[in-house]
Amino acid sequence: MSRRILLIEDNEQNRYLVTFLLEARGWEVVHAPDGPSGVALARETAPVLILLDIQLPGMDGYAVAQALRADPALDPIPVVAVTSYAMPGDRERCLESGCNGYLEKPIDPQAFPAQVEAFLPPGAARPEGAVP
Ligand code: MN
Repeated sequence: MSRRILLIEDNEQNRYLVTFLLEARGWEVVHAPDGPSGVALARETAPVLILLDIQLPGMDGYAVAQALRADPALDPIPVVAVTSYAMPGDRERCLESGCNGYLEKPIDPQAFPAQVEAFLPPGAARPEGAVP
């Protein structure tokens, strides 16, 4: 069973932090810096979960979520938006685009891994460090 999480994020610092926090729990993190390569990498690597930045160059996170949902092979994978947008309606827009949930930046390093793991489907394989 895969322990792979796909992170679609253009910001180097956020990428570093998320990768560090999740690898410490036993997850394998694969990274794409933009939407089109994120969708391609999702098809190639079959991650258990996708973390999706909304503010991406070119194709924004809403469009990426829609593209993931439009692919029957990718549709079952949970997609969690991670965004610094705090405008009213953004959460709804994420969910309407097909995201399963929404986590706000700045990331809380203590809470983040468990917040992400909460979106895994029941019965999904988890590394030993992850919450059951
Ligand atoms: Mn960004």
